[in-house]
Amino acid sequence: MSLNHLAEASGRPRPARRSLSRYRAASALAAAAFALAACGGGTDGGTDTAADGGEDAAAGYPEQDITFVVPFSAGGPTDTVTRLIAEPMAAELGASIIVQNVEGAGGTIAAGQVAGAEADGYTVLMHHIGMSTAPALYANLPYEPLEDFKPVGLVTEVPMTIIARKDFEPETLEELVTYLKANADDVTLANAGVGAASQLCGLLLQEAVGVKLTEVPYKGTGPALTDLVGGQVDLMCDQTTNTTGQIKGDEVKAYAVTTPERVESLPDLPTTEEAGLPELQVGVWHGLYVPADTPDAVVEKLTAALQKALEDDNVVSQLAELGAAPSSQEDATPEAHREQLASQIELWAPIIKDAGVVVQ
Ligand code: ASP
Repeated sequence: MSLNHLAEASGRPRPARRSLSRYRAASALAAAAFALAACGGGTDGGTDTAADGGEDAAAGYPEQDITFVVPFSAGGPTDTVTRLIAEPMAAELGASIIVQNVEGAGGTIAAGQVAGAEADGYTVLMHHIGMSTAPALYANLPYEPLEDFKPVGLVTEVPMTIIARKDFEPETLEELVTYLKANADDVTLANAGVGAASQLCGLLLQEAVGVKLTEVPYKGTGPALTDLVGGQVDLMCDQTTNTTGQIKGDEVKAYAVTTPERVESLPDLPTTEEAGLPELQVGVWHGLYVPADTPDAVVEKLTAALQKALEDDNVVSQLAELGAAPSSQEDATPEAHREQLASQIELWAPIIKDAGVVVQ
């Protein structure tokens, strides 16, 4: 089932969109996220004062170190992707990029911090699909994703995997479903907090199976994976950028990848569709953001550096090894990114509302 089918099935209006990649949206419950609206431009066309008057400020940019804020723990998947692109972006921009992990509250603390930061291009947020789910998950979110930021461009698309501690009883996804139905009260599900991709995927898993598990929030799935390997928690959904090594090293049990197609770097891992849970499909898109008043000329420089980084051989090969793909040049733009964010907010809001998850 495609995103459009999902919209039809749920009676929601069907947003026009163009495909981002091989990861197709598909779920009766939720759906993968790699699709963009077909038309319409960004809304940040120089209407704000700083953007109009920021040319002078932007002329010499960058003149100091740039901070990339990662909303989750060091060593996790968001951190990995950020550090991977930071190096070629720094080379392109001619400035150092410092990666800062601002953890907590499923990524919303970092996003709130960057929303309120100086709009000078020296504070940049890396965030993922969570930017689009947080407005529905939080009753009092301290920022507005479409208003308080300027998107710089999409960065990458990453499948998720459903994994468990190595000695967890079920051997296949089918057995996992049966096991969860019989033992829901005893199973712990790790995530990176409300607003994280792992939380969204875990929510979809619980909805698909029809169970409520005990969720264990971490500040990132880096530490969550450590606990999973150590046997302190049972189950987790997480990006291949974090789980590929442990799956290949046989340190965890892997049930499925949550995209319609298998991942080349994990060829033996079935898709959720193949493994009997076709309604559970989700993929994680990432993007860079700056505060809303950042001059357009600064954003242009960041976008150009991002585009260059996404063509860097090392970035491309490392992402491929981790089951991910760099965004296309067309998608690594503020316009495409804004379209993606808007369409994803629209997609997830009713699904999250139906699931009844709201942080007050
Ligand atoms: N992958 C995590 C998530 O669930 C966050 C992280 O640690 O990067 O969103």
